[in-house]
Amino acid sequence: MADVVGEILSSTDSGNGVDDEGPRRTRRPALSPSRASDFKQCPLLYRFRAVDRLPEKPTRAQIRGTVVHAVLEKLFALPAVRRVPDEARALLEPAWQELLASRPELSGLFDDAEDADTELREWLASATRLLDHYFGLEDPRRLEPEACELLVEAELASGVLLRGYIDRLDVAPTGEIRVVDYKTGTAPREIGEAKALFQMKFYALVLWRTRGVVPRQLRLMYLADRQSLAYTPDEGELRRFERTLEAMWDAILRAGRTGDFRPNPSRLCDWCDHKAFCPAFGGTPPEYPGWPDPLGLGVETVLDRAD
Ligand code: SF4
Repeated sequence: MADVVGEILSSTDSGNGVDDEGPRRTRRPALSPSRASDFKQCPLLYRFRAVDRLPEKPTRAQIRGTVVHAVLEKLFALPAVRRVPDEARALLEPAWQELLASRPELSGLFDDAEDADTELREWLASATRLLDHYFGLEDPRRLEPEACELLVEAELASGVLLRGYIDRLDVAPTGEIRVVDYKTGTAPREIGEAKALFQMKFYALVLWRTRGVVPRQLRLMYLADRQSLAYTPDEGELRRFERTLEAMWDAILRAGRTGDFRPNPSRLCDWCDHKAFCPAFGGTPPEYPGWPDPLGLGVETVLDRAD
């Protein structure tokens, strides 16, 4: 059994490898659920994102997901009695403005629109619908989460460091843990589901290794479909998953040394921004830049976290 030397940190990561608050300290390279999922899907996609860091144009659906996640986080910061649909709707526009202020490049989101104002209004209305759907799935006035947007980190006995953000962590008075993840994306559910379960097992493993408790429930809330899916992991499964991640990290390091990241074409290529560089689609990858400064490898952006 792996020793636990992990820790759970409050969510202060700026995405650049240092904390925004408190003592500034560097971080060791880590595997995040998004990047692990990339490597599992396609090693070349992992390379393009984690090593080459090729730019990707965020879609309106991605940004909408980021804003909806921010609203739900702010909603749970309110006193329970105020967690009602009108309050959530009132939080939406300020959350969008806040995101714009921190990521000014997003102001171009509606640049290609014929009528930018109308499309912005429709886009905000679609975000409001997702929030309304959320209230159809649960009543947040009855919940007191331990944390939202929680950065969790665990080092396995093999030395592999796992790091990720949990949308919401509910802990019952009995100590039972529930991990909650909001899904706002438009990708077909059957495609996203395997990825989502991979991500949830990742969090379950980190929590098990840091708290010694296997989460009682992993809950995925599909806001567009107004459906939720609950999953109960067991210890044997998490142990197997741990070995899978360790083998994956070894494979990443091997590929990183040689630059041999192979394409693995699948239906998911439809969502890949890098087809033009992909040999499976007649492209040529940029020259391999070599293994990067390790600090960025485990970094997830807010867009990764709001799929
Ligand atoms: S297009 Fe498909 S095979 Fe090519 S890098 Fe993207 S995900 Fe991989």
